[in-house]
Amino acid sequence: MRVAIAGAGLAGLSCAKYLTDAGHTPIVLESRDVLGGLVAAWQDSDGDWYETGLHVFFGAYPNMLQLLKELGIEDRLQWKKHTMIFNQPEKPGTYSRFDFPNLPAPWNGIVAILRNNDMLSWGEKIQLAKGLVPAMLRGQEYVESTDRYTFSQWLKQQGISEDIQQDIFIAASKSLNFINPDEISALVLLTALRHFLQKKDGSKMAFLDGSPTERLCQPLADYITARGGEIRLNAPLKEILLNEDKTVKGFVIRGLNGALDEVLTADVYVSAMPVDVLKIMLPEPWKQDGFFQKLEGLEGVPVINLQLWFDRKLTDIDQLLFSRSPLLSVYADMSNTCRGYANPDRSMLELVLAPAKDWIAKSEEEILQATLAELQKLFPSHFQQDNPAKLLKYHVVKTPRSVYKATPDRQKYRPSQITPISNFYLSGSYTMQPYLGSMEGAVLSGKLTAQAISTRSCHAGVCTEAHPVANLSQEQTQTPQPATNAAIA
Ligand SMILES: Cc1cc2nc3c(=O)[nH]c(=O)nc-3n(C[C@H](O)[C@H](O)[C@H](O)COP(=O)(O)OP(=O)(O)OC[C@H]3O[C@@H](n4cnc5c(N)ncnc54)[C@H](O)[C@@H]3O)c2cc1C
Repeated sequence: MRVAIAGAGLAGLSCAKYLTDAGHTPIVLESRDVLGGLVAAWQDSDGDWYETGLHVFFGAYPNMLQLLKELGIEDRLQWKKHTMIFNQPEKPGTYSRFDFPNLPAPWNGIVAILRNNDMLSWGEKIQLAKGLVPAMLRGQEYVESTDRYTFSQWLKQQGISEDIQQDIFIAASKSLNFINPDEISALVLLTALRHFLQKKDGSKMAFLDGSPTERLCQPLADYITARGGEIRLNAPLKEILLNEDKTVKGFVIRGLNGALDEVLTADVYVSAMPVDVLKIMLPEPWKQDGFFQKLEGLEGVPVINLQLWFDRKLTDIDQLLFSRSPLLSVYADMSNTCRGYANPDRSMLELVLAPAKDWIAKSEEEILQATLAELQKLFPSHFQQDNPAKLLKYHVVKTPRSVYKATPDRQKYRPSQITPISNFYLSGSYTMQPYLGSMEGAVLSGKLTAQAISTRSCHAGVCTEAHPVANLSQEQTQTPQPATNAAIA
């Protein structure tokens, strides 16, 4: 079957990859001149890459790891020591670590917490354990039911102090969804904790060895095209054309630079575009349908990514760092963490600025100056001296609407990959899958869409070689149900 897919982010590419595996022919349309969507990267005039976002992979990403294996590129992930490192704002320039020992889960996580004495007192450790352990034991159904609360509200209900929230969970919340605990749904933090604590290496982190566009998306594109699929850059979907029965008749591709629009027809159509774009593009007759109306409950969250090149080495830490700064979220010295950006003499910091709602409209210069002021606190020995570190160049990438903003009660708005329209499907990390707005969620959503299309085509008797998409385990496909009042009681 010919399947037209709008959007060449990880979800669209994953969907196309698994469709080719099942013997179908995907045609992927991407509006921009670059693959990857939220993982897209560009090369500047010096040949240096700059990215939409600092991206970290986790041991708890089964579908991403399987995909990399299937592409034969799993060695591109550079796994780091199993540790989490936080800056200590009260002692500028110092770090506090949670080192995970070589023990089965969840004991390695418990020991990591017990051994950390900088950020948590014994009283706080006991408080945290009393709040979190029962929540983890009550299972995912309970976790789903906490979607009604912000994480701050939930912590308060568990008797966990404001100090613990300040110390650990602001950093965790910002790293997961670019917002603070008083905005984020409790479900997000608790789901992430479950993924991380269930598997020994769940919270172990890896960096890709270069830009995601070149090192991850391009191999995906090559895999797809080598098997008869097509990827078209600079091919924005302009309109979804309908038949009288409201099924899709064709995708109108906007002609660029004076070219005429083009209508692409296929057997099946997929939107792997961001939810904010899809909402604008919904055909009028679909807008009455409750399934599509629910999309109004989802909206992308703003975030800003900075990359700063310095004239010297600021740190030799080869790991993600949680800044615990009100302005910044996580950051890393990519000259240490990423083979493709390695430099033994100079640092290249990649930093995520979040929450970004008050910054997204500001100039790059203002954003840069505020970030440099923060760096004075993070690296005092390099900036507060006679010969301070010199900024050689920088790039700022603003994303006004990135992953869906996971405030309370969003789960009920997240759509399934299968829609009420028989020849139209959805992919994207905002669609329902258990990994929320992440790369793993995007890859899994694409796989689920490909699986649904293949299954439906088999049932309709147009099965090519009867290849269902690679089997998915229960854990990978389990689709969370919206929270119910009963579940929380
Ligand atoms: C700063 C930042 C840091 C992040 N860090 C991490 C991390 O460390 N770990 C992690 O797992 N995840 C992280 N994420 C989240 C992760 O990047 C996303 O969840 C994932 O990439 C989303 O993929 P997607 O395919 O669902 O959507 P997108 O990447 O948004 O893809 C949608 C695609 O549709 C295209 N499109 C839009 N309009 C049209 C149109 N009209 N026609 C055709 N195409 C169109 C877009 O250009 C884009 O390519 C981060 C995100 C950001 C922004």
